[in-house]
Amino acid sequence: MSEGSLDAPTRHPLKWRDEDFYNEDKIFAELERVFDLCHGCRRCFNLCDSFPRLFDLVDESPTGEVDGVAKADYWKVVDACTLCDLCFMTKCPYVPPHEWDLDFPHLMLRARALQFKQGKTNKKQDKLTKMDSNGPLGVKFSGLANWASRRENGLTRSIMEMTHDVHKDAELPTFAKKKCSDRAKAEPIEVNASAPAHGKRKAVIYASCFGEYNDPDIVMDTRAVLAKNGIAAEIVYPECCGMPQLEQGDMASVANKAKTIAKTLKPYVDDGFDIVVPVASCALMLKFEWPLIEPDDENVKALSTATYDATQYVVDIAEKEGLADGLKPLSGGITAHIACHARAQNMGRKAQELLKLIPETQTTVIERCSGHGGSWGVTKEFFEVGMKVGGPVFRDAAKADSAYVVSECPLARDQIVQGLERKDKKVEGPGKALRHPVQLIARAYGL
Ligand code: SF4
Ligand code: SF4
Ligand code: SF4
Repeated sequence: MSEGSLDAPTRHPLKWRDEDFYNEDKIFAELERVFDLCHGCRRCFNLCDSFPRLFDLVDESPTGEVDGVAKADYWKVVDACTLCDLCFMTKCPYVPPHEWDLDFPHLMLRARALQFKQGKTNKKQDKLTKMDSNGPLGVKFSGLANWASRRENGLTRSIMEMTHDVHKDAELPTFAKKKCSDRAKAEPIEVNASAPAHGKRKAVIYASCFGEYNDPDIVMDTRAVLAKNGIAAEIVYPECCGMPQLEQGDMASVANKAKTIAKTLKPYVDDGFDIVVPVASCALMLKFEWPLIEPDDENVKALSTATYDATQYVVDIAEKEGLADGLKPLSGGITAHIACHARAQNMGRKAQELLKLIPETQTTVIERCSGHGGSWGVTKEFFEVGMKVGGPVFRDAAKADSAYVVSECPLARDQIVQGLERKDKKVEGPGKALRHPVQLIARAYGL
């Protein structure tokens, strides 16, 4: 047996249709096996709150070993996992093909799938994560919805805390006045026919639910950057990718979404279009999670290979064809957070590479978990835990004190801005509404 695998990590397909996947005894046996290995290793002690919880449980148990931890307490570890994938991607030497065959996040996911099957997931949260029901309503009544969800609105936020388990102090994304797909139709864009990449690439942008309902500017700015570089990219939004359902262990819903979206995008993929995704979590779903959930679906497989994270795509254009001229410096500096779900895409620090393309502009890179974790980070139970996990990121961002704070994960960006507020720092001026690194490329072009 080797101490750590020297081979490239691989991931097993998730056998969520097998009865065994939900066998409680087998899940607990596997949790015990993996927890014991982690207890002996402890490399991940500072990645999130799951591992500190595990190690505290072990250290405080009568035996000082995993066998002394009550099985019921295993859920404390499972519940604190945001499925960020960092332990698997960045720390663990024992992932497959190593014979210990350890995939901590997917074991947490399996445990969540058991909870979901047993009807033990949080039903209040369930309603909140139905993006394609809440989103259109939120947009239609954006004035009211945004007023009600403001942190300053103590009454409505207290009610939301009671009814939906959303912590009253957690910053929530506002709804846009118009859906991204509607804006894209109403705002045609001119394509730069003299750009080096013109005529060499075909792309569509998958807007994501966040882009469709909450922040269309991220998607519109991505489209503008591509147009400046000679690529006429249509914006598509069939439906949400199912990341919130994945977090809840609702495997069948995620699989349905994967199949439906992959089928909708098939004509583009077959026709040689690249699928560009401006939110890291969604890109991770399309590229890596869906093919493990629907490994035999040819559309899902083809979509996975055609998908690019937006930062990765613009860097790829820069490397292969060269970017169109015209990038100007941005003053005041940039803090760029490398999101966990960008790191989990195993593509390198694309946000950093991208922002280096802006001349004479200082960029501070922070590569740690912000503690948001999707819907997990706004819950009554975990909001303050997430703020604690994100503490080192907030500290480094406060030190950098940049005019722009961006992340490939827009929710992580908002979490950092909230963390900065707790340090009496505000992001104001032109950087206030900009969440994503590609938006800074758009601004550097003067778009
Ligand atoms: S996936 Fe992320 S949150 Fe979950 S245990 Fe690993 S590092 Fe922690
Ligand atoms: S997930 Fe891997 S690296 Fe992390 S503590 Fe467990 S065994 Fe160690
Ligand atoms: S991962 Fe993307 S599409 Fe999925 S819920 Fe999050 S923002 Fe929406």
